[in-house]
Amino acid sequence: MLSIYNTLTKMKEEFVPIHSPEVSMYVCGPTVYDFFHIGNARSFIMADIVRRYLEYKNYKVKYVMNLTDVDDKIIKKSIQEKKQAAEISENYILAFLEDINKLKIKPATLYPKATAHMKEIIQFIKELEDKGYAYNIDGNVFFDVLKFKEYGKLSGKKTDELESGARIEINEEKRNPLDFSLWKKAKAGEPFWESFWSKGRPGWHIECSAMSCKHLGTTFDIHAGGNDLIFPHHENEIAQSEAANGKKFVNYWIHFGFLNINDEKMSKSLGNFFTARDILKKHSAEAIRLSFAQTHYAGPLNYSEDLLLSSEKGLEKINNLAYKIQNELSTAKKTEVSLNFNFDKYYRAFESSMDDDFNTPQATAVIFDFTRDINKTISENENLNYEFFKSAKLFLEKTAVNVLGILDFEKHSKYAGDSIENELIELLIRLRIEAKEEKNFLLSDKIRDRLKEIGIILQDSKERTTFKRITI
Ligand code: AMP
Ligand code: ZN
Repeated sequence: MLSIYNTLTKMKEEFVPIHSPEVSMYVCGPTVYDFFHIGNARSFIMADIVRRYLEYKNYKVKYVMNLTDVDDKIIKKSIQEKKQAAEISENYILAFLEDINKLKIKPATLYPKATAHMKEIIQFIKELEDKGYAYNIDGNVFFDVLKFKEYGKLSGKKTDELESGARIEINEEKRNPLDFSLWKKAKAGEPFWESFWSKGRPGWHIECSAMSCKHLGTTFDIHAGGNDLIFPHHENEIAQSEAANGKKFVNYWIHFGFLNINDEKMSKSLGNFFTARDILKKHSAEAIRLSFAQTHYAGPLNYSEDLLLSSEKGLEKINNLAYKIQNELSTAKKTEVSLNFNFDKYYRAFESSMDDDFNTPQATAVIFDFTRDINKTISENENLNYEFFKSAKLFLEKTAVNVLGILDFEKHSKYAGDSIENELIELLIRLRIEAKEEKNFLLSDKIRDRLKEIGIILQDSKERTTFKRITI
């Protein structure tokens, strides 16, 4: 049974989808005015792991991630760079798609763009206005927070406390400082769309309500995003959606903890960030993903170069096993030993970790235990059969590859799948054995050393000689 910590109820709850086996999931995506940073990447990767685990459990996930392609930051950049706002956003959408692909994040089912949903957004605002939840002042439309009685139920904030804490914004004619923009009248030179109220553009919160509702329905299963979005973004999404539709908006709210640097939130405005594409020049997607998976998604995580270096060290163990498995699977052997290895135990441990609110630190520990135990079994048993290695590969594929994305068998099968090369190595191994039998140790050592130079290590045991490849 999968349980998820729900920000709305502040409890771990059993996950029951509305239309099982279908699951509808919406994740707040990037505002496309720059490359995304490694802090954003943490949220995107952890959301990807949630989605992949749901798929492991045979759910069919409709995964929607919006792209905010109309926004003050995009407009500001377009003015700075003397380009059209659309040109800025299109370029960064391409960069975003490239980067998530490099991070091995599975593509969403849909990436709706705000600019392609103006009709739905305007209609949504109209509905709110008709129902008395929105008011128009001179072409600017606001949501009337006090009309929505349950405002604050996600963040736990109370409207009266918020009001006394809020600074009154001088330039705005809002009825209440808590009211937020649904539609903003365009200033000269800004991009705009025609609407009932003015030539203008939507506020950020309404985009997510309109697009999630259009693609996932008026009530859907999971909504996720970084912790910073709980208030006001998600609180406002709930207010808008539930006011317009008269129904519960989302059943499970998942929020990801922040990636910090020197214990301070990594963010563009603080200038203390590294872009994901820069980190990817030095470290693999697998190393980045492992360093995130080793901390629970909800807690904070301090980013450092050491964190990635230690993940790389850890990955070496899993990668070496992957090499070994690929090697064994591509080498035909004469005598084979079958063994009753309890694979099921590791599947159960992996599942019970992930079922407990996606406990990835525990799930990765299961993969490391598995690696250690399989290695031990291999060293204690000569000539294990094909089935054993096949099952070991299957376990790693289902868990480390498909759910956590911390292993890529392709990387380790580049050579292993090449049977001619394998045959040539086997031939050299036989020649070396013959040389040894003739006590020509000069030649046998030469064969071993020359193979080592090109990254092929021979391993002698009583029964036979095997080889493994290392990256040189
Ligand atoms: P943005 O482009 O700033 O709207 O952010 C896109 C996503 O990344 C949102 O879900 C944010 O909550 C999340 N995010 C932003 N900064 C961080 C951070 N330092 N750590 C984790 N997630 C973050
Ligand atoms: Zn959103």
